[in-house]
Amino acid sequence: MYKLSSKPLISKAELSERVNSLAAEIAAAGEFDILLGILTGSFIFVSDLVRAMPKANEKGMRVKFFKASSYGDSTEHGSLKVSGLENLELAGLRVLLVDDILDTGNTLYRLVPMLKERGAAVVKTCVLLDKPSRREAPIEADFVGFKIENKFVVGYGLDYADDYRTLPEIMTMEEV
Ligand code: 5GP
Ligand code: MG
Repeated sequence: MYKLSSKPLISKAELSERVNSLAAEIAAAGEFDILLGILTGSFIFVSDLVRAMPKANEKGMRVKFFKASSYGDSTEHGSLKVSGLENLELAGLRVLLVDDILDTGNTLYRLVPMLKERGAAVVKTCVLLDKPSRREAPIEADFVGFKIENKFVVGYGLDYADDYRTLPEIMTMEEV
């Protein structure tokens, strides 16, 4: 059995401050034609991030989402179900790929080449959270909000069996 921690790991104020500084870091690194968010966990992060990014031009930046989820048990890592990439036109585009959390790394490690196969000129990755101690695939994100310990986290878009996504802070789930 798991229960929600009583105190947040990352508070609302810390999230808002870091998302703002991350947006500035990304903007300083160059322009992107399109932000691609990975559903569902990144939806709140993406919406806060784009509102904090300075507009590169009057049209702003394109934003699209697609679905990627790993399935199977942990012994079967590597099986990734992707949908919504089929009709995405990425030829020549500079893509910022955004996920909620970088854990084993298998998701981003597989997605980056898929976007390049679809013609993306540049693919940079951005995650709100990073659990470096869990890494299996040889990948680091280009932009990281917070490095955290190996704890299961929920809130600010992240779920546990589809619950807890709308909590405004990052909370941990503790075994009881
Ligand atoms: P990776 O392929 O890097 O192992 O996994 C990334 C995905 O695993 C994330 O997009 C997220 O859906 C899920 N994930 C990994 N760690 C956590 C966590 O602590 N909390 C939640 N809610 N999801 C996680
Ligand atoms: Mg995910």
